[in-house]
Amino acid sequence: MQLRNIAIIAHVDHGKTTLVDKLLAQSGAFRENQRVAERVMDSNDLEKERGITILAKATSVVWKDTRINIVDTPGHADFGGEVERILNMVDGAIVLVDAAEGPMPQTKFVVGKALKIGLRPIVAINKVDRPDARPQEVINEVFDLFAALDATDEQLDFPILYGSGRDGWMATSPEGPKENGLAPLFDLVLDHVPPPKVEEGPFRMLGTILEANPFLGRIVTGRITAGQVRPNQAVKVLDRDGKVIEQGRVSKILAFRGIERQPIEVGEAGDIVSIAGLEKGTVADTFCAPEVDTPLPAQPIDPPTVTMT
Ligand code: GDP
Repeated sequence: MQLRNIAIIAHVDHGKTTLVDKLLAQSGAFRENQRVAERVMDSNDLEKERGITILAKATSVVWKDTRINIVDTPGHADFGGEVERILNMVDGAIVLVDAAEGPMPQTKFVVGKALKIGLRPIVAINKVDRPDARPQEVINEVFDLFAALDATDEQLDFPILYGSGRDGWMATSPEGPKENGLAPLFDLVLDHVPPPKVEEGPFRMLGTILEANPFLGRIVTGRITAGQVRPNQAVKVLDRDGKVIEQGRVSKILAFRGIERQPIEVGEAGDIVSIAGLEKGTVADTFCAPEVDTPLPAQPIDPPTVTMT
């Protein structure tokens, strides 16, 4: 199956959760009798308490035989190193902006990081159903924001869609057509976002998110750069200097499938997966086949965030 890895960048309340729910509902990710759970990306109690998105999570939808992994980004500068690491797993981004509010100062940080690492965002102007929507002005504000963040000409030439996540449509004009639902957004992701770059050779994955899971213990999530990984496979962990941190075995591999993470039998290059079974490997370490000696390049990191799931 083809793959695309994207991030959605949005200010709180601009409609990210609602849009992802609708993407799931309109994609092939679900059997017909499977209900799309409400509030997919908003399920963490701590987040609800603080009203902000803290943890990185992913959802995956299938469109025209392509799996699209949608990674949630913390909408906040407090998670500096984490934002950069998460964005390094994706090849594209949807910048989702409320058609009435326009881009908010808090999203500047994440958008700036996305532009700096070379992503070419798609801009989606959301909530055009609002009576106070002013989509054309908001586009100009987004353009000014990108320009102020030193976007390249290519990045400034962003594709634009308008629509209403709540009503389940996106189109090239704020007036619609609405009948195509979110197909224009799915198609644009497939056309505009490059497939993940994969390298030749044995299994390698850069640890990107660390979690403490009550059932599986320590799990590390990342995008597989090369090769494949299977349960029970021998895996070595290298730190950023290439020092061997540990040698062990993968106990379980999970991948994002719809709203859940599901155990899989093989993790393929390009996909974003979570690996259990290693005891020391962490963020910015390279998880790899035993014969690999060179670590993947890693960003400098803050103290790793441990996520409880
Ligand atoms: P998030 O914080 O970005 O995940 O935003 P939510 O998806 O939780 O949406 C925030 C609020 O905006 C909720 O009250 C939604 O019902 C509302 N909302 C989401 N999408 C739309 C839309 O397309 N149009 C309108 N008018 N409201 C929307």
